Amino acid sequence: MLKRKSMRFVATLLAVLASFVAGPNAALDAAPQHRDQAPGFYRLKVGDFEVTALFDGTAAFDPHWLNGTKATMDSVAKALHEDPHMLDVADTGFLVNTSKQLILVDAGAGTWWGGAALGRLAGNLRSAGYTPEEVNIVLITHLHSDHVGGLTTQDGKRVFPSADVYVAKAESDFWLSPEIAAKAPKDAQPFFQSAQAIAAPYIKAGKWHTFSGSEPIVEGMQLIPLPGHTPGHTGYEFSSKGQKILFLGDIVHALRVQLQHPEVTAIFDIDQTAAAATRQQLLPRLVSEDIVIAGPHMNFPALGRLRKEGSGYGWAPVVFTDQWDAK
Ligand SMILES: [Zn+2]
Ligand SMILES: [Zn+2]
Repeated sequence: MLKRKSMRFVATLLAVLASFVAGPNAALDAAPQHRDQAPGFYRLKVGDFEVTALFDGTAAFDPHWLNGTKATMDSVAKALHEDPHMLDVADTGFLVNTSKQLILVDAGAGTWWGGAALGRLAGNLRSAGYTPEEVNIVLITHLHSDHVGGLTTQDGKRVFPSADVYVAKAESDFWLSPEIAAKAPKDAQPFFQSAQAIAAPYIKAGKWHTFSGSEPIVEGMQLIPLPGHTPGHTGYEFSSKGQKILFLGDIVHALRVQLQHPEVTAIFDIDQTAAAATRQQLLPRLVSEDIVIAGPHMNFPALGRLRKEGSGYGWAPVVFTDQWDAK
């Protein structure tokens, strides 16, 4: 009898203890983890222009896509072993609102490159308070699908129906030529096919325009030929009230390698020698003129400045703020 009583006591005590243990767990259940992120856009004032970086997605850059000396590539492999994310890249397009025109510089990959990890640009443009229909002009640095895929749907519809698209004539002539495509190596064929399919509806609508010199397209914007990565690879430099921003396309793929070693090229550079020479010519001017850089593959928001650092360059990224600096 006594024994049964004490067992009941033990059972009661255990139940009381269990309720203390259950208490904190119940509180945790009330706030589940969200596991999502903020919308992918970021604004910066450059003189009178409002620049909005539009995130398209991220991708891992393979070290085998870089060409450098054995010593440099050995140091890249070692650094990558210590930090597996050192070659992670973003894909980004940029909106410039000049108050007269709404201009998109590069359009991300859409559904033409990178699978489900890319193709967020149009959604982020809406999150930033604009619509694709409002875009008047699209400036294209080059016709690789990670920069133009966002222009056109897979069924051939224009994502930016009001926009006039501008691209260098050398670029358009190269990628849209059936003769050049026929002679290109097999693994380059998808780049030609996507460029042709993406351009087609704009050409049909009379919205595809090429330039071959320094003709004026937008007030306050200068064309900067940056050949090598592709034949007509072009940067767009906007100036307002003494401030400058350069949309430089694929001058830099691997931020943490090619700024310290500007001679390192990417296998996607069609003319390796010209690509390295163009980068080596451009980088000192970006430092001396304190030009804001908009680099599609830099870590988001893909905006920053260069500083001289040792024998190469260091990256000073724009730092997040929720304030609009009206100065
Ligand atoms: Zn490219
Ligand atoms: Zn690219």
